[in-house]
Amino acid sequence: MRGVVMHGPGDVRVQDRENPRIIEPTDAIIKVAAACVCGSDLWPYRGVDEFHDQPMGHEYVGVVEQIGDQVEDITIGDFVVGSFFASDNTCEICRAGYQSRCVHAELVGGTQAQRARIPLADGTLVATPGMPDADLIPSLLTASDVLGTGWFAAVAAEAGPGKTVAVVGDGAVGLLGVLAARQLGAERIVIFSRHADRQKLATEFGATDLIIERGDEGVAKLKELNGGLGAHSVIEAVGTQESMMQAIRATRPGGHVGYVGVSHDVRLPGEELFFSGVHLHGGPAPVRRFLPELIRLIWDREINPGRVFDLELPLEEAAQGYKAMDERRAIKTLLRP
Ligand SMILES: [Zn+2]
Repeated sequence: MRGVVMHGPGDVRVQDRENPRIIEPTDAIIKVAAACVCGSDLWPYRGVDEFHDQPMGHEYVGVVEQIGDQVEDITIGDFVVGSFFASDNTCEICRAGYQSRCVHAELVGGTQAQRARIPLADGTLVATPGMPDADLIPSLLTASDVLGTGWFAAVAAEAGPGKTVAVVGDGAVGLLGVLAARQLGAERIVIFSRHADRQKLATEFGATDLIIERGDEGVAKLKELNGGLGAHSVIEAVGTQESMMQAIRATRPGGHVGYVGVSHDVRLPGEELFFSGVHLHGGPAPVRRFLPELIRLIWDREINPGRVFDLELPLEEAAQGYKAMDERRAIKTLLRP
C-alpha cells in the first residue's frame, strides 16, 4: 500500500509500505477514507522534534476491513472514527474520562496511508450510524483529533454560559476551540489572530471579538474588553512559552486555562503561577470521551467543523500539503488515499 513517511526535517515522501496486519487479537485494520496533516506534524517537519523514517498520521476515518478474534463491538464494514490514542475504555482512568492516559494507551500512527492498524478497536473506535454522506467525511475526520482536542480545551477551560472565553492560537485546534466554546454556550469568545482567513473562519465558528496583538500587549487588549479582569476561560492551543504565559496572564483569578498545544520547552514561573490564582488543566485530549457526542452533532448537521480544511489533496501529493501548512498557506490539509 501507499503511505506517508517522514525521512527527516522537510523531507516527506509517499512510498510503498507493508500492509498493516492484525498483531493483537484486539486490533482492527481499517481502509482509510480520509486522513490529514496535524499541526503537531509540523514540529518534526521543522526539525524541532527528531523523526527519522517515521510513518506519519494519527487522524483517520475509514471502513473496518479486518478484526482480531477478541473484537466484539466493532464489525467488518463499519464506518468508524477513532482517537489518536488507542484506549481500552474500561480501566479506571478511561472510566473517569481520561482515555488518552489509559493504562493501556498507545499512540495510533501511520494513518496517512491507504490502510491502518488500530489497536484496542472496541475501546478506541466509534462506529457512525451508517455510511456517511461524502460531505460529512471531513467533519467526522476532525472529530478524530482537532475537534476533539479543541472541545477538550473548551471543557478544561470550563467554557459555558455567561463566560468570556479567550483563545490563544488560530490554527485548526484554536478555531475549533472557538466552535466548541460557542456550542457550550459561552457568551463572548475572543480569538487572538492576525491572519484574515483565520479571523474569518473564527467569526463563522462563533468568535465575537478579534485581537491582533500578541503576548502582554494582547493580554492588555483583552483586559480592556472586560473591565481589566481577564477572561474566565482561556484555551491555549500552541504549546510555546509565549503562548502559555499569554494564556495564564489572560485568565482572571479563579478562572481556568485549558491547554492542549503540545508543550515545547515551557517553563512556568512558580511565583507568578502562585499569585495568579488560575486553574490549569490540559494535556493530550481524551478525544474518545467526546466522540459519541461529536459524531451526533456532525451527523445531525448541527456543527460543520470540516470547514477547517482549506486544502484537499490526493495522498500522493502529501508533501505539498505539509509545505502549504508549514508556510501557513493552508490551515489544514485533508488527504484522500
Ligand atoms: Zn483505559
